[in-house]
Amino acid sequence: MIEKKTKPRANYCFKGVAVSPGIAIGKAFILSGESVKIEERRIDDNEIETELENFCQAIEKTKQELKEDTESVVSRIGDENAKIFETHHLFLDDPYLIDETKQAIEAGKMAADYAFYSIIEKYQKQLAGSDDEYMRERAADLRDIKRRVIRNIQGNRTDFLNKLTGAAIIVARDLTPSDTIALDKHKILGFATDLGGKTSHSAIMARSFRVPAAVGLHRVTEFIQNEDRVILDGTEGIVYINPDKKTIDRYRQIQKKLNAINQQLTRIRSLPARTLDGKEIELAANLEFSDELDNVIEFGARGIGLYRTDFLFLAKEELPTEEEQFEEYRSVAERIRPYPVIIRTLDVGGDKSPQNISIPPEDNPYLGYRAIRICLERPDIFITQLKAILRASMHGNVKILFPMISGISELLEAKQMLEKAKAELSKKRIPFHNKIDIGVMVEVPSSAVITDLLADEVDFLSIGTNDLVQYTLAVDRGNERIAYLYRDLHPAVLRLIRSVIDAAHKKGTWVGMCGEMAGNPLATLILLGLGIDELSVSPIVLPEIKNIIRSVEYSEAVELANQVMEMKTPKEIEDMMMKKMRQKFKDLIF
Ligand code: PEP
Ligand code: MG
Repeated sequence: MIEKKTKPRANYCFKGVAVSPGIAIGKAFILSGESVKIEERRIDDNEIETELENFCQAIEKTKQELKEDTESVVSRIGDENAKIFETHHLFLDDPYLIDETKQAIEAGKMAADYAFYSIIEKYQKQLAGSDDEYMRERAADLRDIKRRVIRNIQGNRTDFLNKLTGAAIIVARDLTPSDTIALDKHKILGFATDLGGKTSHSAIMARSFRVPAAVGLHRVTEFIQNEDRVILDGTEGIVYINPDKKTIDRYRQIQKKLNAINQQLTRIRSLPARTLDGKEIELAANLEFSDELDNVIEFGARGIGLYRTDFLFLAKEELPTEEEQFEEYRSVAERIRPYPVIIRTLDVGGDKSPQNISIPPEDNPYLGYRAIRICLERPDIFITQLKAILRASMHGNVKILFPMISGISELLEAKQMLEKAKAELSKKRIPFHNKIDIGVMVEVPSSAVITDLLADEVDFLSIGTNDLVQYTLAVDRGNERIAYLYRDLHPAVLRLIRSVIDAAHKKGTWVGMCGEMAGNPLATLILLGLGIDELSVSPIVLPEIKNIIRSVEYSEAVELANQVMEMKTPKEIEDMMMKKMRQKFKDLIF
């Protein structure tokens, strides 16, 4: 969003939602937002020439930037990923687009940014409404072009890729998965965004980058300017703009303390997640990008409890082939073995919109065409992925997880597709592990209610609290306005979780948790006491969660869970857990 920025006041402070712990102190880097702001501005005759010139220069500058960005992406993540920029080049050479804009400036007396905006919006709408899937996808390219050119016309372009020369705190209105993929991870000190909630995918990606992050800061992008000094407190969700010396000193002290705690925690890296009286659970990590695997192992994870394969699909313009997917899955399976990797089949839709799968605009994307619903309708995509996973099962301990199952019929259909994938491989004599474990994510309340029925059909269950909380409480997980209602320690959520664990155990079925609640230190003892078999968490919080488990008796956790179940409000539960944690872990900063 381009707006005239209010001059930031010294030591100005914003409070949002804490999503990835730690402190970062550094320079701000403003990443362009999804949309641009335009005023409807008419010009006088004597301004026409300047506006025309401004427009032509902006087009040339954008071409140059695209060229640089393409080179940068090619050198960092390969040719394939740079293809997204090819169509952008074509649009900038389109005579209709250019001539119509010039005409709107000359004859329509529109300011250059307003003229370009109006013309491109028209084309964008036409493309978005087209019956042809390819054309609809081009609408997204136009949006990007619009953003880039208008930034250049307005003259305050904040660079997308190349200008991130030194380490910086990334500040953005929101972070889409595709924006984030393009960033150079080594230069990111932290993330601060206007939008988003604790379990929005921008927050999940920040955690996978292992940097502090705060989201839902509302209007922080209007106040921060490039190069401003910023303190980002990802533990409390606070951002300071141009802080005074006293604040910086205080945060340096906290940083030191956190480093010391982390050092302490690394000592338990290779130890199991076992209570003082010997109850052990599996503590695994969530994985978004395969190149994060070394870090996952370094943090002491015993397996991958959730491998979100979605990012393979989001990074490219074309669908990833069976071979490409197989290589990825094989490499993860090989590197993590003998520990397991639970590969979740494609889960796009909601806040993840790939360029390579057509998802028509929807009023309620989180209740719409997403995850297994897409896969069951697109066997071409689903069976290809299943074959790749099956082939990878020969190279490690691989399990399959189906997302967003809301009833038995969907599960049975997914299982049928798996059988088809197996048959296709068998026909070609390609080896795979026929008895591969399959599981279902319990993330829709209906599936939680029929856990017993699902358990009859699968080898394991994994509770996806990010969605389960949003659907149970009817609170959009990414909406910062109502983030205060999104509470994983809500009695309704806890009762549902307890019933899932009990129903699964009655059937002798293993049940884990892979939503962000699994990594919430205030929830650890409750989940342990309720009998969860596994927690799969962001690597960044794994040592802390392990430390909590290793510091209690199992009987204490069971007693605590029973006590919590009697409580009536999330606040009561949170307060009690916070008190408990403070008593028990005086050194840890809660
Ligand atoms: C969940 O919903 O808890 C989950 C793990 O899936 P995602 O966050 O990818 O929707
Ligand atoms: Mg989910």
